[in-house]
Amino acid sequence: MRDVIGQGRLLSTLAKRAVGGDLAQAYVLSGPRSIGKRTIATRFAQTVICARDLPGGCGACLACRKIEQGVHPDVLVVTRLMDRGANNDDAKNIGIEQVRAMQHDLALRPLEGPRRVVIIDDAADLSPFAEVALLKTLEEPPSHALMLLVTPTPAFLKPTTLSRVQTLAFRLVAVAEIAAGLERRGLADATTHASAAGGRPGLALRLATDATERAARNALDLEFYRLVSSGHTDRFAWAAALADERDTQKRSRAIDVRLAQWAELLRDAALTPMAGFTGAPMRGDRAKESAAFGAAVATRELVDSIQLTERFHEDLAVNANARAMLELFALKLPYTDVLKGVT
Ligand SMILES: [Zn+2]
Repeated sequence: MRDVIGQGRLLSTLAKRAVGGDLAQAYVLSGPRSIGKRTIATRFAQTVICARDLPGGCGACLACRKIEQGVHPDVLVVTRLMDRGANNDDAKNIGIEQVRAMQHDLALRPLEGPRRVVIIDDAADLSPFAEVALLKTLEEPPSHALMLLVTPTPAFLKPTTLSRVQTLAFRLVAVAEIAAGLERRGLADATTHASAAGGRPGLALRLATDATERAARNALDLEFYRLVSSGHTDRFAWAAALADERDTQKRSRAIDVRLAQWAELLRDAALTPMAGFTGAPMRGDRAKESAAFGAAVATRELVDSIQLTERFHEDLAVNANARAMLELFALKLPYTDVLKGVT
C-alpha cells in the first residue's frame, strides 16, 4: 500500500480486495501504538474513494488530498472530544451523541465518491452506550459504508462488537524495513532512529524528525536505569511521584508510555544474552546496556518483571489503584548497579 512502512503481506492482500471491490464493511485495526494504524486507515479510505484503482489511492487527486487533510465530506473521523481540546468529563469518551451524529451522516448517500468511510480512533474510548449504539450500524451497515475501528486494545471492545468486524492485527516492523522507509523520506540517520523505535514506524518517524521526542525517549531510558540502580526508598518515592498526578488521563498516559518502553528494555535484557537466541533486539540502540543488564540479573527476575509490566498495562485501563500498582512494580524490578551513570 502506498507510503506505508511495514505490514506488507497483510496490506497487499487487503489492497487487492479493496481494488477488486471485495472488502468487508467493518474492520478493527489493532496493534501497538505508533505502528501505523491511523495511516493505514487513511490509505484504506483513499483506496476505496480515489478514482484510480491503486492500493492506497493515487495520493495526488483532489479526493486523495482532501482525505489526507481530513476535509473530505465522505470520510468522518470520530475521536474523543478531549483529543480536540475539550476539557470536561464527558470528553474522556466517545459519547453516544457522537455515534448518533455519525450514524445520521453514514445513512446518507456519499456526496463526492462511491463510499462513505468512518474511522473511529480510539474505538476502545467508546462509552458503553456509544458502543451499544454502534452495534446497530455494524449489524446492518448501509451498502456504501466502510467502518474502520482503530485501537491498540481490541480486548476492551465488547465480544458482540468484535464478532461483527474483521480484525486486522498489525505487527512490529523489522528495523531494516523501518530504516528503508525513513530513507525513502530523505531522513538522516535512518538506521539509528529505526533501531531506537522498538519496531514502530510511527515512533521512528517522530524520532527522526523531532528532537523533543528523542530527548523524551532518552530521558525515560535513563529513568529506568536509575530505577533499577536504586534502593527501596528511591523506588517508592518514584512510585509516589508518578501516582501523584491528579489528572487521571495524564497519569495513565505517563504510566502507559513508561511500561511500554521499559518492557522493551526488560525483554532485550532477558533474551539477547541467551545462548541460541537469534531474534532481533527491540532496542538495538541500547544493545550494550541490555547485555550488561541481562548478564547482571537472573533471567527469572527479568521475566517476572516483564509479566508484571504486562499485567499492569491491562490493569491500568480499568483504572486500578495506580499508587499500589507502581509500588509493587518498583519493588519487583530487579536491582543491579551495572547501569549506574548510563547517559
Ligand atoms: Zn487519488
